[in-house]
Amino acid sequence: MHDLSISKLSTEEQAFLDGAVEDLCRDLDDWQITHELYDLPPAIWAFLKQQRFFGMIIPKAYGGLGFSALAHSEVVMKIASRSITAAVTVMVPNSLGPGELLLKYGTPAQKDYYLPRLADGREIPCFGLTAPEAGSDASSIPDHGIVCRQDFNGEKAVLGIRLNWEKRYITLGPVATLLGLAFQLYDPEHLLGDKENIGITVALIPTDHPGVEIGTRHFPLDIPFQNGPNIGRDVFIPLGWVIGGQAQLGHGWRMLVECLGEGRGISLPALSTGAAKMTARYIGAYARVRQQFGMPIGYFEGVEEPLARILGNCYLMDAGRILTATAIDQGQRPAVVTAMLKYQLTERMRRLVNDAMDISGGAGICMGPSNYLARAYQSIPIGITVEGANILTRSLIVFGQGALRCHPFLLKEMQAAQHDDVAAFDAALIGHIKHIAGNLGRSLWYGLSNALLVVSGTPRTRHHYRHLARLSSNFALLADYAALSLGGSLKRRERLSGRMADILANLYLCSATLKHFEEQGEPEADLPLLEYACTLTIHRAQQAMLAAFHNLPMPWLAKTLRTLMFPYGKPFSPPDDKLIHQVARLALEPSATRDRLTRGIYITNDPQDRMGRIEDALHKTLAAAELEKQLRSLMKSGQLHAHTTEAAIQEAKDKGLLDTFSAEKLLAARRATLNAIRVDDFPASYFQQTSIVGARGYGK
Ligand SMILES: Cc1cc2nc3c(=O)[nH]c(=O)nc-3n(C[C@H](O)[C@H](O)[C@H](O)COP(=O)(O)OP(=O)(O)OC[C@H]3O[C@@H](n4cnc5c(N)ncnc54)[C@H](O)[C@@H]3O)c2cc1C
Repeated sequence: MHDLSISKLSTEEQAFLDGAVEDLCRDLDDWQITHELYDLPPAIWAFLKQQRFFGMIIPKAYGGLGFSALAHSEVVMKIASRSITAAVTVMVPNSLGPGELLLKYGTPAQKDYYLPRLADGREIPCFGLTAPEAGSDASSIPDHGIVCRQDFNGEKAVLGIRLNWEKRYITLGPVATLLGLAFQLYDPEHLLGDKENIGITVALIPTDHPGVEIGTRHFPLDIPFQNGPNIGRDVFIPLGWVIGGQAQLGHGWRMLVECLGEGRGISLPALSTGAAKMTARYIGAYARVRQQFGMPIGYFEGVEEPLARILGNCYLMDAGRILTATAIDQGQRPAVVTAMLKYQLTERMRRLVNDAMDISGGAGICMGPSNYLARAYQSIPIGITVEGANILTRSLIVFGQGALRCHPFLLKEMQAAQHDDVAAFDAALIGHIKHIAGNLGRSLWYGLSNALLVVSGTPRTRHHYRHLARLSSNFALLADYAALSLGGSLKRRERLSGRMADILANLYLCSATLKHFEEQGEPEADLPLLEYACTLTIHRAQQAMLAAFHNLPMPWLAKTLRTLMFPYGKPFSPPDDKLIHQVARLALEPSATRDRLTRGIYITNDPQDRMGRIEDALHKTLAAAELEKQLRSLMKSGQLHAHTTEAAIQEAKDKGLLDTFSAEKLLAARRATLNAIRVDDFPASYFQQTSIVGARGYGK
């Protein structure tokens, strides 16, 4: 990972971010979208199509933007800092779905026809996998197609498939023109060959095709991107509509698994990081301008704690996002890493936005056009659930499935055993024994010496590299212990598997953070962020490891292993109070560090904007900070008698204690602060206008 050269945006990609994306973000009125229209306005839909936002992953040869994974991630991140609804709408056509599947498996004719139409928005795609009875266990979909012959488009007895399906939760489904459909394919009459159960297959179906029903919508938690069920009754399609044609019949599951990783490593990590950066920037500003007990709330130790958590997590989320996008750009398909990143970043977004809600108090709770945080808060469960629900991903996918794939010898041993290849098995086994012995020796030595002889990194980062080296050896040893002692039952031991996933994920994010710091030129001022992020992840990895020890079979052996790895007890602590204070302070004032941390989101200090008003107040408050101190001391010393701040400013001016310029500065700060802490209210009649009638569902 250290040797990966981090992706850089091309001039064209940067221009798109500074041009089309900036314009889009400025025009996104999230309250109008989420509360008044329950949809993006028609002008925004048109702009998205015209600027080819839906064709970011489609190569230029087909009329798309042909963007790198990093650019794609930056676009989603920036939009997410403004409107989650818009970000999801842009994200989905560029993630797993017709576009990606066509690119990888489509026939030349399918690509030539559909890709240009998808790139410029003539076609709106959706992808239908989930069914009412098949959610996480998507391979069990009951939706099916039967190979048959039927007259079609004036031709007699065309070989094709008769489909019946019922899908739900399909994003863009209600407005899609092109449905990528996953179904089980059967050939009971053996029209294609000997096999009756052909397996999961994916086809492209125009939604105006006879028998296809779309249009009704689900209502996903006040984040009204287009999402809904769709149904197909006796829909006949020719075989040529199967993605990749006849050659890909029955290969749908493999196609989906191969494609899922890429989008999963980009979309939701970008969305979560966008929300995290937006939160970090504006909640920090809010904590500085909002005063209680005569002090900015961000100065209170209790508030510093969530503030530091927000900033530290934001820093490491960005690091993980960039490193993973780079790996994808370099042609790697890091399936385990993308699953890990998705669950970690959406979980961290959950915690971070929750922290920001606590700091906001009532201002976060009261909904309205001024509330910049509530929709991000409401969107949390969506990120947690889609593209592999987090509980499942953490407790089954990452370690349960990933460990076997990533282990240097386990898979080889199993394959050799299956093929009765004694020589290959022996070679793999000997390699495996050496691998265990090496990790055992390293774990013991690193435990005794705290990896003192590891010399990676620079003097400022070396201690983190040492901790990583130490915990990595421990993890490798523990993974072998778990795999060998539990064998096939490891997959069912989901809590253990989840802890192993936590160890690996924290080590990955810590590594990404170190790389991020070095890539940014190791700025001295960012050291508190680096320290916080590394200390946090190393401590979490250690805690997950200790929890795993408690639950391993053969407790006496597990205890011995634990003593060997941690001979002096627990070596790593969470961030201490001094560090928490340093990090929290970074949130409260404009600085190069704050700009680096929140780079790439939409930033404004327009006082009329829901976010800009807080940024505006921060600048004006800081500009008047010294004057405010003077005013307070004048009030305290009894030289001023007024009861309100405005009146005190006027009195000080009248008495010649403040000049006009200073008084104006103080008043401007005061007005900006009141504007920043304002919440919306509505006439009572407003609530009688907005009710949704006609919902179908339970009991209807
Ligand atoms: C807003 C939204 C948009 C979506 N967009 C699309 C789309 O465009 N196309 C599409 O095909 N699908 C889409 N989905 C479906 C999404 O992929 C599923 O919701 C997801 O796979 C989970 O399925 P489920 O909701 O039925 O939950 P369930 O499968 O019922 O799972 C419920 C809980 O059980 C846990 N669980 C299940 N099995 C295990 C296990 N073995 N071990 C541990 N935990 C387990 C899950 O993690 C989850 O927490 C969307 C869903 C939503 C809500």
